[in-house]
Amino acid sequence: KLSKRLQLLHDLMDPGRILADIGSDHALLPVACVRSGQAVKAIAGELNEGPFEAAKKQVASAGLSAKIEVRRGDGLDVIEPGEVDTVTIAGMGGALIAAILDRGIHRLKGVTRLILQPNVGEDILRKWLYEHDFVVEAERIIEEDGKIYEVIAAVPAYFSHIANEEIYEPKLIGTRENEIELSKEELIAMGPFLVEQGGPVFIKKWHWEMDKLKHVLKSLSNSDLPAAKEKAEEIQNRLKRIEEVLLCMQ
Ligand code: SAM
Repeated sequence: KLSKRLQLLHDLMDPGRILADIGSDHALLPVACVRSGQAVKAIAGELNEGPFEAAKKQVASAGLSAKIEVRRGDGLDVIEPGEVDTVTIAGMGGALIAAILDRGIHRLKGVTRLILQPNVGEDILRKWLYEHDFVVEAERIIEEDGKIYEVIAAVPAYFSHIANEEIYEPKLIGTRENEIELSKEELIAMGPFLVEQGGPVFIKKWHWEMDKLKHVLKSLSNSDLPAAKEKAEEIQNRLKRIEEVLLCMQ
């Protein structure tokens, strides 16, 4: 059985896809997708020896070697342009996922859906998607085993029924009494769909983020350097903004 986290990626796929799961580790996701019919064929890509062997074993013991190919290589190097239509990358930092996409962007030809699950650095990944003409079409947030995960599904702009300009145009959230307008940068940081959905997990995530920022603020207060003062001010402003957003959601 898939974890709740991987199940979310599975569910954001359409049936009948040709999938490449990059950084597949035990190939749990491609195995589940082929079993359920979400994928008719799949490639499990792995950079490292241990997980590569684990993926091969898993695929063989599931009896799916005819439908899932396990390939060893760095990021998108394991796929040829036009070979797959869906790419999943999960369980890494957003900066690493963005770097993998960036380095292999020419291999994304024919890919109509990216389903990504950054562990941290969601803002970096959304910024990369935005700057490279991918449109975020769906977002999910869940808590599992004391951790919070975000999943982002994106499609190439030419393939999307929504425009990036629409998604990231300044957005009003909240009720009339405490309504605020979020900028493009804030929507990229928090998730254009997640801010609209709100919900307890989203609120919890941003309380955690505030705690982290308060921690940084505390350590900055020990310094007299002008740069530290400046940084502290910036963090204070961010904290105030997050507080305002959360207030709108109560
Ligand atoms: N995707 C699985 C999941 O979400 O459960 C596994 C996540 S695991 C934490 C990250 C995996 O990515 C590791 O197995 C690691 O070897 C692999 N990896 C890291 N960098 C990679 C790269 N540049 N290309 C392919 N695989 C990579």
